Amino acid sequence: MPKITMTTPLVEMDGDEMTRIMWQKIKDELLLPYIDLKTVYYDLGLKYREETKDQVTIDSANAAKQYGVAVKCATITPNAARVEEYHLSEMWKSPNATIRSIMDGTVFRAPIIVKGIAPYVRTWQKPITIARHAYGDIYKAVEMVTDKPGKCELVFTSEDGEVRKETVHEFKGPGIMQGVHNTDSSIESFARSCFSYAIETRQDLWFGAKDTISKKYDHHFKDIFNDLFEKEYKARFDALGIRYMYTLIDDAVARVIRSEGGFIWACKNYDGDVMSDMVATAFGSLSMMTSVLMSPDGSFEFEAAHGTVQRHYYEHLKGHETFTNPIATIFAWTGALKKRGELDGLGELTAFGEKLEKATLQTVEEGYMTKDLAIMSSLPDIHITNTDQFLAAVKERLEKLL
Ligand code: NAP
Ligand code: MG
Repeated sequence: MPKITMTTPLVEMDGDEMTRIMWQKIKDELLLPYIDLKTVYYDLGLKYREETKDQVTIDSANAAKQYGVAVKCATITPNAARVEEYHLSEMWKSPNATIRSIMDGTVFRAPIIVKGIAPYVRTWQKPITIARHAYGDIYKAVEMVTDKPGKCELVFTSEDGEVRKETVHEFKGPGIMQGVHNTDSSIESFARSCFSYAIETRQDLWFGAKDTISKKYDHHFKDIFNDLFEKEYKARFDALGIRYMYTLIDDAVARVIRSEGGFIWACKNYDGDVMSDMVATAFGSLSMMTSVLMSPDGSFEFEAAHGTVQRHYYEHLKGHETFTNPIATIFAWTGALKKRGELDGLGELTAFGEKLEKATLQTVEEGYMTKDLAIMSSLPDIHITNTDQFLAAVKERLEKLL
């Protein structure tokens, strides 16, 4: 069978540890035999980030903007232990944060749903995609602790010299203070990415905040979303039969639990941090969560939501067999290939991505899975596979579908 051809390359961002090992296996076993795979390759493995003083991360993000579709392997975010382990000259920033700030994008995380792994919430039948605003609020807060009485004020001095002042609190004794901010441009980009992604995936969009209590700050988020929606997106939503809904964050939480899924839930930074872990856990497992970064100008970066699975990597280095689940990484590739196929009008490439997803889910539904899924599965007849056996089982089913 001739290989499926591509026209525009994917931007390939290689990564670290166990996911790097799986990355190569997925390419060798499931992609290269069937696709004339074109990629522009960037090695975001920590060793090469150090060698290039992290320039490779910046270059890869610019390439993602240039070519439009990227696929990324999980990468180590250095901490003190990693600085020592990899003899780093600096504690390089999280590659995801660097890429996100260059692409100015929003991350959408969605679970991969498969028969036999039931979500903890009985009503959920379709994925719930969480969109987290990734700038500002408490993540850029300025904080103070006082051990004595005094006055805390909020002072704004405009560039043209106007001064505005509000008293935050008159302390009678010790206490704590926090100043947070956000910018219209960041909120607008976030809103645009959310509306565009809803249109892309034909799903309703929900946004929740606390505007009844935060009458200026949260209300401003609500206004920006509403204004943009009315002005620029409403007609397209109507045409597709999807809707945008703003509601209070606590009401959103209650509705999410009672829903059957199948929508995008846009969250402010902190809400998204907390709720994405809640949703991921309730759907089953972090190893079954995919993530796509979408920029307001319409470029995409696909990845798995989990990390480099360090513990398994150390087992692998000792020569032990590993049971790491490659599904989210496979779906990062299929997401990117399907998007490339769609943008370039390559039906065969899109169909290949769909078939590979189908083969992967079929493998699990027929009872072949790694340990992390086996402990959650309700299937009667389960065969635990290591990573290699799982990939081989997927390949067998893929060949039947091709
Ligand atoms: P992790 O790699 O997500 O793994 C945490 C634990 O979750 C694993 O030890 C494993 O549990 C389980 N797990 C995660 N993915 C799995 C999979 N595919 N198959 C089976 N089990 C899986 O998180 P971490 O260990 O906290 O972080 C390791 C490194 O990843 C860190 O250096 C961090 O900076 C980086 N990280 C990168 C990204 C990214 O690039 N997007 C995201 C998060 C973390 P058991 O050990 O119980 O089997
Ligand atoms: Mg978190």
